[in-house]
Amino acid sequence: MSQACEESDEILFVVSWRDLVRRTGHFRQQFLIESLVDLNLQLKAFSQKLYITNITLPEFILNEVNNNIQKVYIEEDVNFEEQIQFQAIQKMARSSAIHLISTKDSTLTEFEATFKLFENRNMIFTDFRKKVEKKLTLRVLKNKIEKIPKYFEPVQKEFFLDLKELQSRNSPHWTCFQGGENQGLKHLNEYFSHPENALNYKNTRNGMVRFADSTKFSPWLSLGCISPQKIYETLKDFEKVHGENESTYWIFFELLWRDYFKYYSFLNKNKIFTRSGIQNKAKNNLPKNIEFKLLKQWKTGTTGIDFIDANMIELSQTGWMSNRGRQNVASFLVHQLKVDWRLGAAYFEEMLIDYDCASNWGNWSYLAGVGTDRRDRIFNVEKQAQDYDPKKEYVKKWLRQSSGPI
Ligand SMILES: Cc1cc2nc3c(=O)[nH]c(=O)nc-3n(C[C@H](O)[C@H](O)[C@H](O)COP(=O)(O)OP(=O)(O)OC[C@H]3O[C@@H](n4cnc5c(N)ncnc54)[C@H](O)[C@@H]3O)c2cc1C
Repeated sequence: MSQACEESDEILFVVSWRDLVRRTGHFRQQFLIESLVDLNLQLKAFSQKLYITNITLPEFILNEVNNNIQKVYIEEDVNFEEQIQFQAIQKMARSSAIHLISTKDSTLTEFEATFKLFENRNMIFTDFRKKVEKKLTLRVLKNKIEKIPKYFEPVQKEFFLDLKELQSRNSPHWTCFQGGENQGLKHLNEYFSHPENALNYKNTRNGMVRFADSTKFSPWLSLGCISPQKIYETLKDFEKVHGENESTYWIFFELLWRDYFKYYSFLNKNKIFTRSGIQNKAKNNLPKNIEFKLLKQWKTGTTGIDFIDANMIELSQTGWMSNRGRQNVASFLVHQLKVDWRLGAAYFEEMLIDYDCASNWGNWSYLAGVGTDRRDRIFNVEKQAQDYDPKKEYVKKWLRQSSGPI
C-alpha cells in the first residue's frame, strides 16, 4: 500500500467482499466488517475511501480496464485457490498492458529469501526453524503512510456494496475480539504492557481459561490488521526493557510455525487439501451415515467426553478455541472417531475467528499424520484434561454455558 501511495497520482482502494467471505461463518464475518470499517475510517482521514466490490477481484479489474488503469498493486496470497486467482489477474494484466505489482506480505520472514530454505515438500518444522534461525531474513516494516493520493471514480458503480448496509445485515455475535488495525494495536500494546504476560508465556500458553494465557494475536494476524513484523518489533522493544528469556523467545518461535505453514502451503498447493495429504497415506472410509452422525456429535459438543465437548461448545459460542483445545478435538475426531480430518478442518474454517488457510489445514494435516510428519498425533484426552484442566474449571465453564447449571 505504501508503495502504491508513493508511486501514484490517483488511487482506488478495492477489496472484494465475494473473495473475502468465501466459506466464512458469522464470527469471522463480523470481525471482517469491523476491520473494513476501521480501514475505511483511516482512509477517510486522508479524504480517501474504501470500495467494496461484490464481484471477484479479477472480474473487477477486467471491468475497470477501460478506465485507464495503469497499475494494479496486489497482496499475493500464498494459498492454492488464491494463487489460481492471482494467475488469472496476471494473465489479464499482461493482455491489457497493465503493470502488476505484487507482494507476499503475510509472513514474518522475507518470502523469497526464506522460501529458498524450504528444501523439499517434506521438510519438518525443526529443520526449517534451524535453517531460518541461522540465516534470518525478516521482512522490513514499511514506514507509516503520511500522504495518500486522491481517489478516482470507478466505472462500475453497480458492483459496490455499502459498508453501513453490510453492518446492518450482520447480526452481532459476542466475541472477545474486535476487528481492525486500531483494535489490534491496542491489544498488542495491552499485552506487552503487563510484563508478566510475555515473561511467562511459555508456562501459560497452554492454559485454557485466562485471556492472557496466550497472546491472542491470531485474529488480527489472520486478516492482516497487524503484521508479524509489528509484533516482532514490539517483542524486541519489550526485551530491551524487561530482558529476554525462554518465554519471550517462544513467542518468536510460534510465529515461525505460522510462517512454516505458509511455505508448506505455497509449495504443496492443493495437495494439502487431500485426505491422504502430501504423504499419500491411505485411510479407511467410514460408512457415510456413521461418519455424519459422529461428526454431528463432535460439532455440537455432544460426544459425552467433557473435555472435547467443552472445547467444541466454546468454539460454537465464541469463534475461539485455545491451541491445546484445537489439538485435542482434532486428534479425537481423526484418531478416535476415525472421521475424515478434512471435515473437521472445514468446520474450523467456517467457525474460527482467526481462520488462516495455511495454519488451519497445515495443523490439521500434521495431527492427522499426513503432513510433513508421518507420525499420527494421538492425544490421550483423559490425561490432557487432567494435565490442563485439573480442577475442571474450563469444562465446568463451557458445559454450564450450554446446559444451565451443572
Ligand atoms: C487443528 C488446528 C487448527 C488451527 N487453525 C488455526 C487457524 O485457522 N488460524 C491460526 O491462526 N492458527 C491456527 N492454529 C494454530 C494455533 O492454535 C493458533 O494460532 C493459536 O491458538 C492462536 O492463539 P494465540 O494467538 O493466543 O497464539 P499464541 O500461542 O500466543 O502464539 C502466537 C502466534 O503464533 C502463531 N502460532 C501459534 N501456534 C501456532 C501453530 N500451531 N501453527 C501456526 N501458527 C501458530 C499464531 O500466529 C499466534 O497468534 C490451529 C491449530 C490447530 C491444532
